[in-house]
This record gives sequence, C-alpha cells and structure tokens, in this order.
Amino acid sequence: MTYKTIILAAETDQEINSVTFELVDLARKLAPDNEAEIVYPTHLNHDCTEQLAETTGLTVSRLKIQGSGEYDPQTYKQAMQSYLDQKGFSFLLAANTTRNRDYIPALAHKFGSTCISQVSDVKQGEQDNCLLRPIFAGKYEAVLEPEKETAFLLIQPGSFQAEPPLSRNAGEVVEYTYTGKPESIRSLGMEKDLEESEDLKNAQVVVSAGRGISEQENLDLIKKTASMFPRGSMACSRPICDMGWLDYKYQVGETGNTVSPEVYMACGISGSMQHISGMSGSQLIVAINKDPGASIFNYSDICIQEEVVNFLQTFLDVYAENSQQGQTQDPS
Ligand SMILES: Cc1cc2nc3c(=O)[nH]c(=O)nc-3n(C[C@H](O)[C@H](O)[C@H](O)COP(=O)(O)OP(=O)(O)OC[C@H]3O[C@@H](n4cnc5c(N)ncnc54)[C@H](O)[C@@H]3O)c2cc1C
Repeated sequence: MTYKTIILAAETDQEINSVTFELVDLARKLAPDNEAEIVYPTHLNHDCTEQLAETTGLTVSRLKIQGSGEYDPQTYKQAMQSYLDQKGFSFLLAANTTRNRDYIPALAHKFGSTCISQVSDVKQGEQDNCLLRPIFAGKYEAVLEPEKETAFLLIQPGSFQAEPPLSRNAGEVVEYTYTGKPESIRSLGMEKDLEESEDLKNAQVVVSAGRGISEQENLDLIKKTASMFPRGSMACSRPICDMGWLDYKYQVGETGNTVSPEVYMACGISGSMQHISGMSGSQLIVAINKDPGASIFNYSDICIQEEVVNFLQTFLDVYAENSQQGQTQDPS
C-alpha cells in the first residue's frame, strides 16, 4: 500500500504551533518510507512556510486564501477542498482543535472519507496501522482501523513527539492561491473577548478546580490557594463553567485556555484528554483526587490521594499558622 500523508500545519500568533511537529512525527509512524507534505492555509503575507520547509525538510504548500482576512469555516473548507482535489492522499493529519473540528468533518464528507477525532496513538494492527483514541474519560482506548481509502485524522495535542525533526535539506515551498467566495456565509471579522484572562495565561502557579470540588462555595478555597502565590491564578475544568460556577475565561483544556505554568494544581479533576491537552505543558503537575485510579495521576509529578476540600483547608490552615509564627516563605 502506498501512502501520501498531508499535514495541516497549525499556528498560534503567527508562530508554528508545536503540534505541527507532532503531526510530522505521526506521519513518519504511519508511513516511514512514504511521501508526506505540509499545507499551510493563511490569509497573511507573513507566515511560517519557509521556516517549516527548513525545519522539516518536507514540501510545504502555502495555501493563500484571499478574502476578508479572517477565518470562516466555509472558505477554509472550500480552499482545502480545491487544494486536496489536486492531490492523491491516504491520510490528512490535523490537530484536534476547535477550528479544525469546525470544518474538517465536513471536508472529509466531501471526499467520502472517514474522519476520526481525538487520535492519541498509533499501533500496528493485524494488517495495517490502528489508531487509538481515549474513551470513558481516558479509562479505555478505542482501537480503530479506517476502512476507506482516505482518512482525516484529528490528533490530540500532546500525544506525539513535538521536537522539530532534524533535516539536512530544506523542503520546497509551493504556492497555491484560493480566490473563491464562501457559498452562504459572509465573515464580518472577529471580535476579541476583552475579558480574556491574561492573568491565567501568564500565571506561574495555576490552581484549578474540577467537579470534585463538589460545592460552588468551595471555590473560595481554590481562590485563596491561588492568591498565596505572587503570580497565582485560579482556573477550572469545563463542568465548573457549564454549571455556571465560573466564567468560561477560566476554563483550561481543548475548548478553553492552554496554560503552561511552573506549577499546575489539579483539584478534583479526573484527567480527561480534553482537559490534559490544555495543561500538559506545565512544568510540575500536582493532582489531588480521592480516586487512586484517576487518569490525572498518570500525568502528574505529585499525586495526592485525598479528599480535596479537607486537603486545601489543611494546606491553608498550616500556611496561616506558619505565617503567624513568621515562618512562611513564598510558597512557590
Ligand atoms: C468536544 C469536547 C470538548 C471539551 N473541552 C473541555 C475542556 O476544554 N476542558 C475540560 O476541562 N473539559 C472539556 N471537556 C469535558 C471533558 O470531557 C470532561 O468531561 C471534563 O474535563 C471533566 O471535568 P472534571 O475532571 O472536573 O470532572 P469529572 O470527570 O467528573 O471528575 C471529577 C473528579 O473529581 C474526583 N473527586 C470527586 N470528589 C472528590 C473529592 N471530594 N475529593 C477529591 N477528588 C474528588 C473524582 O474522583 C473525579 O476524578 C470537553 C468535552 C468535549 C466532548
């Protein structure tokens, strides 16, 4: 079987997002001897195409999308379709991000292909490669083998090797321009949420609440713990926002913020892949959970099996006691 793998590059603030290198790593695992190339859709004049070709040694197609200058799912789907129409490919690899989930399944449908989201690993099956994705909050893994000739795979960030490959020769850069108009949506631009929490993004210590915190009033303990640190911030898992206990600007994870503080304290959080993808870049992960089998412990440097409210209350009491005796230092 011959493979041609197309990698959809990801960027953040005009810089290559490291998940792009994870996709390159997966492309090599899926088809070590076969051809792979990268596509980089952009509205911008400045982009990272040349840099990508240099670091990976792969051909990079700059897919220039003319139009309003903003992302809209229909234009991106049409632009990618017109680019892919000229290619033979077996796999399209993209990051499992909100944007890609917005239009890649529809794109896969146009090609009569399979789309598998949240892919976290690959292994050799009886005949061909099998793809793994977590299910039941990460306690099991579904093992899947695509049966169609082409498959669109959305990869869970943090699952593969993110080191840029060492390449001796820079790859070629190829230009494609898409000038079509969206069929039924006109984008009027994007407005930034002014309340986006810069404190959380820049925090050194993040204290994050999950459903295990049990009561809304217990969030005070999270807030107090975070405020012990000079650059501390509170955060939470999605159910806490869904219940209306905290604003969505505090949510960490795939559909929330991505944070990489020096310390991340996960308080009563189970460790779903959707949460892990937003905090796995933290330098030190401390998890407090009463369940010894909680998935979060697989990602943590310090695992504390405790009732979270008691633990935080004791932690704060001991700190207050030491402060009164003049024994406290900066807790970080
Ligand atoms: C498309 C999609 C996108 C998503 N995006 C996100 C996202 O961005 N961020 C996110 O967080 N989630 C996201 N989710 C939801 C995600 O799948 C999980 O449901 C969620 O992360 C679980 O949150 P949790 O760990 O707080 O709750 P739970 O999974 O309910 O876990 C609670 C944990 O608390 C522990 N616990 C209970 N009581 C105590 C106690 N008294 N003391 C100590 N420990 C206790 C339990 O053992 C358990 O491990 C998304 C889901 C989907 C489908």
